[in-house]
Amino acid sequence: MAVMDQIEQKISAGIPISRNEAATLYLEADDQKLSDLASLARMRFHKADEATYLIMAIVNYTNVCVAKCDYCSFYRLPHDKEGYLLNTDQVCQKIEELVQHGGKLIGFNGGFHPKLRLDDYANLFTEVRRRYPSLEFYEMTVAEFMFSCKLSKLSYDAGAQKLAASGTRWVTGGGAEIMDNGFRKRHSPGKYTVEDYHNAQESILRAGMGSTATMVIGFDETLDERLNHLESLRTFQDRVGGTLASFLCWTYKPWNNEFGGIELATSEYLRWLAVSRIYLHNFRNIRTSVLTKNEDALKGLRFGANDFDLPTEDEVTTRAGATISLDFERILAAARGLGFKTIERSAWPTRAWR
Ligand code: SF4
Repeated sequence: MAVMDQIEQKISAGIPISRNEAATLYLEADDQKLSDLASLARMRFHKADEATYLIMAIVNYTNVCVAKCDYCSFYRLPHDKEGYLLNTDQVCQKIEELVQHGGKLIGFNGGFHPKLRLDDYANLFTEVRRRYPSLEFYEMTVAEFMFSCKLSKLSYDAGAQKLAASGTRWVTGGGAEIMDNGFRKRHSPGKYTVEDYHNAQESILRAGMGSTATMVIGFDETLDERLNHLESLRTFQDRVGGTLASFLCWTYKPWNNEFGGIELATSEYLRWLAVSRIYLHNFRNIRTSVLTKNEDALKGLRFGANDFDLPTEDEVTTRAGATISLDFERILAAARGLGFKTIERSAWPTRAWR
């Protein structure tokens, strides 16, 4: 039987495809075939003509960071005159702006600030939750959590329990980029190792909070490194009983940073989105990135994605060249033009691993 037919049979039966089959798909399937197979995989979980979305903002509470990733356009070192750390009222002012746009979710994202201990985060989150009880918050990324635990001299389990006890519901899988230790050594040796990242995320889930998975493509990563990322995610998702709520892939923006490069074409992004949907058979929600691909991201709904954000703000990606449009109707019309009924959703419930 031809390899594409074998893959199609596996997808229909919900059987995981192998790493070699994922590589073959990426290297040999044409765009139409990838779209068809990813749509078949999507239908295991979702109606073929429906897509969900959420209006959200990313609040960048600080741009001070000591990790020095060479692909980052956002960070400033401590003592840099452009460095900032927002106080609680300033954070709330940004939340107000989202509320005015009809948003329901705030994601916090900053840097590895050398003075922010876990208690500081817990206090900030407690206060914003008190002021905005109807909003959902993605309060930290796993990468920030890891750094702050180390700074606070807390194990990941102790740090996660502290956050959970303060009421934190989500620590999302941001800051992952490419989960391959060779890639990490080349571009951000101070950030994490893959094993350490998964250990931290496991502690977060074990403490009863929810989490997600992300990937960023378009640096200089090899196909092997991309596959290592997907393989480690799929293995981890099995290990934690399928509790990661979603997988979001977006593209690196190459402006205003040390590494530079050329932006990845949308066609390449869509192909990888399809491979991700097919390979990650144990992820229900695959999300496409309006933040980095604007309306073009909606084409991802035909390449396996079922959900997207309508972002109102994110300094990390806009500093690197992303543009944010508040013309939500135009973006939604792009999805409808592709034949999808768009449904605004609430934040997903956490599915913590206990
Ligand atoms: S990507 Fe994140 S961890 Fe790396 S330098 Fe930028 S803010 Fe710091």
